Amino acid sequence: MAAAGGTGGNQKVPRCIICGRTEKDGALLIGRSSGCICTDCVENIHNYIHENKPSSDNSKFISKVREDFKLLSPKEIHKYLGQYVIGQEEAKKFLSVAVYNHYKRILSQKEEDSGLELEKSNVLMVGPTGTGKTLLARSIAKMLHLPFAIVDATVLTEAGYVGEDVESILTRLLQDADYDVAKAEMGIVFIDEIDKIARKSDNPSITRDVSGEGVQQAMLKILEGNIVNVPPQGGRKHPEQKMIAVNTNNILFICGGAFEGIDKKIAQRLNTKVVGYGVQEKTKGVDKKDLLRYIAPQDLRSYGLIPELIGRLPVVTFLHPLDRKALMDILTQPKNALMKQYRQMFKMDGIDLKVDDSVLDLIVDTAIKYNLGARGLRSICEAIMVDAMYEAPSSGKKSFRVTLEYAQEKLSSFTGGLLLS
Ligand code: ADP
Repeated sequence: MAAAGGTGGNQKVPRCIICGRTEKDGALLIGRSSGCICTDCVENIHNYIHENKPSSDNSKFISKVREDFKLLSPKEIHKYLGQYVIGQEEAKKFLSVAVYNHYKRILSQKEEDSGLELEKSNVLMVGPTGTGKTLLARSIAKMLHLPFAIVDATVLTEAGYVGEDVESILTRLLQDADYDVAKAEMGIVFIDEIDKIARKSDNPSITRDVSGEGVQQAMLKILEGNIVNVPPQGGRKHPEQKMIAVNTNNILFICGGAFEGIDKKIAQRLNTKVVGYGVQEKTKGVDKKDLLRYIAPQDLRSYGLIPELIGRLPVVTFLHPLDRKALMDILTQPKNALMKQYRQMFKMDGIDLKVDDSVLDLIVDTAIKYNLGARGLRSICEAIMVDAMYEAPSSGKKSFRVTLEYAQEKLSSFTGGLLLS
């Protein structure tokens, strides 16, 4: 509320120094005798600045991007990813090249050194759940100086239905770029669980498919490079909301999905292709345990992605299921491997943690036995370690050894022995 007069003439009626309205005119005034301003004008100024502010550190940002580009060859990016992600060499290679080319594209646009436009190649990663898709995306985000957002496709629905509008994918990117549109327009978005927006039935006309084909259609215009109006706070667009226009031409989209059951479609295709003469010969080399390596656009189509969307994801790569060796490596090798984390936690209590090799075998075997994958490793480790972590800080011990007997006992008491039964 206004404390005193603004520029109000003789009677000193407080009024907004910008629009001249008084409280009688419905203005909510802020300020003192030297001058008042109404809340509407404050809001307008705020919006004006937001929309028109030239990006202050853009040249700094571009020079950082240029530095990144000099340092990061595809092989360097691959090597960096190798610190966090075990195996998945094909996916690492495809991603390294995609990210490197993304740098080339944004720098060539900035430098305008040739009339040639480098088109982007969005990436689709297909792989069983828990094999490292999100981890790859997160590791890339850690390495780059570009805005990066990870979004989940499961919350998206067609406009007008309960859920989030597809444009909200870009809200996260804007947030990561501190609402600097120019920066966001050079960013990378990882869209997780893209398989969840596959068409639900083969005949799209029977029922409305608001979280499937409708979302795929809406996604097209974002993926292909367009000016998209983005709700700054995400969620649903509504008419009174101010939108931020974002050009998606240079935004790189990396999509990931488990596409559960797609292996059957691949197998079907491989089989039908090799029916007849020479069947034995042609199917001989097919690795039936890792059918995803043969993924082709037509499999994605029969899974329920529309051809237009597949066309906008020209780079398709796959992740392998994790075998025993991979799980063991995940437990011990990456920069922030689970075992390294536990060792560090005990070290902070002044305790040297030792875990017998047989315990590592037990952890991996349990994860395999119950089909828990890499995600399950942590819960198994927690079940074994929780008592020790509870006792350790007050125990005064300088070292702690986890033996096979100890681990088996802890696992058998966990969930009523379910994990070891
Ligand atoms: P998804 O493929 O379902 O996105 P995530 O990347 O989220 O799987 O993996 C889940 C967890 O499992 C990760 O946080 C990581 O700890 C572990 N993990 C999975 N795959 C790998 C891998 N290839 N290398 C290292 N850790 C992995």
